[in-house]
Amino acid sequence: MKRIGVLTSGGDAPGMNAAIRAVVRKAIFHGMEIYGVFYGYQGLMNGNIKKMEVGSVGDIIHRGGTSLYSARCDEFKTIEGQKKAIEELKKYDINGLVVIGGDGSLRGAKSLSDLGLPCIGVPATIDNDIAGIDFTIGFDTALNTVIEAIDKIRDTATSHERTFVIEVMGRNAGDLAMYAGLAAGAESIIIPERKDDFDSVVHRLKRGLERGKKHSIIILAEGVGEGVQYGKKIEEETSYETRVTVLGHIQRGGSPTAQDRVLASRLGAKAVDLLKNGEAGKIVGLQNNQLIAQDIDELLANKHRLNKDVYQLSQELSI
Ligand code: ADP
Repeated sequence: MKRIGVLTSGGDAPGMNAAIRAVVRKAIFHGMEIYGVFYGYQGLMNGNIKKMEVGSVGDIIHRGGTSLYSARCDEFKTIEGQKKAIEELKKYDINGLVVIGGDGSLRGAKSLSDLGLPCIGVPATIDNDIAGIDFTIGFDTALNTVIEAIDKIRDTATSHERTFVIEVMGRNAGDLAMYAGLAAGAESIIIPERKDDFDSVVHRLKRGLERGKKHSIIILAEGVGEGVQYGKKIEEETSYETRVTVLGHIQRGGSPTAQDRVLASRLGAKAVDLLKNGEAGKIVGLQNNQLIAQDIDELLANKHRLNKDVYQLSQELSI
């Protein structure tokens, strides 16, 4: 394994740059040549590939987004697209690839591995929706962004004695909403993994106001539905003045937290080690804070599960 490539794909996540940096520098540390592929699988099929040096990844560890840019590419989902990508890599004599991205991107890595090009996946998405690992790169930064926003909204909610519904990202996973709700002390957390018991949300609201609470904060995961609709429903049922905030894309950007930088550095470096040792079709991750590698197939066949204890605790503390 002399020459390897690295790309970022799908939704960007804070910490992707720290992962790219780790891949590039660990490869150079091992005496390998390393190539950056720009614009994900789209760029791979178009041959948008450049050699990277130690200095190519200088001054990026603290930046959000991805310096290799990202893209979504439907053509790559076809076998023809994947073969085209492999042809481009052959032109550069690249015989291994690190793919940094979410579950779709990791599936792409698996298909290239199946066609004979060894790939290692590095899970990076703010959704934390990959099974079998503790946290994905970007989740911690997004969580901190959400908490900061909730704290600010809480000031207004308290001053005006209002109920706020805050819609957070996470696609079909409730992790971002659940951890944010726990860390910011929300009254209710509504997530796709748990049946939304509207009556209990209303009950909590009433109980809180009756004991003199000045505000109520309801965190709604986007996988459940739209915050605006939910806010309307609350206002109709309770006649409490309700405001809705959809946090949107601020959750995806920003300088990565220390935790995401360290995670990204460890996972990026581990991916290179695996390629060097002849491994393919694996995802790197932390499981109970231990670095591990698991088969992409196995991991993606399993659904990410919510941490039940954390959910239970969030319920117990928001009485
Ligand atoms: P994310 O990686 O953030 O989950 P997507 O699901 O959009 O984002 O996937 C990113 C890209 O990965 C897609 O645009 C496509 O090029 C590739 N991809 C997604 N699913 C597959 C698949 N099943 N097989 C091959 N490539 C895939």
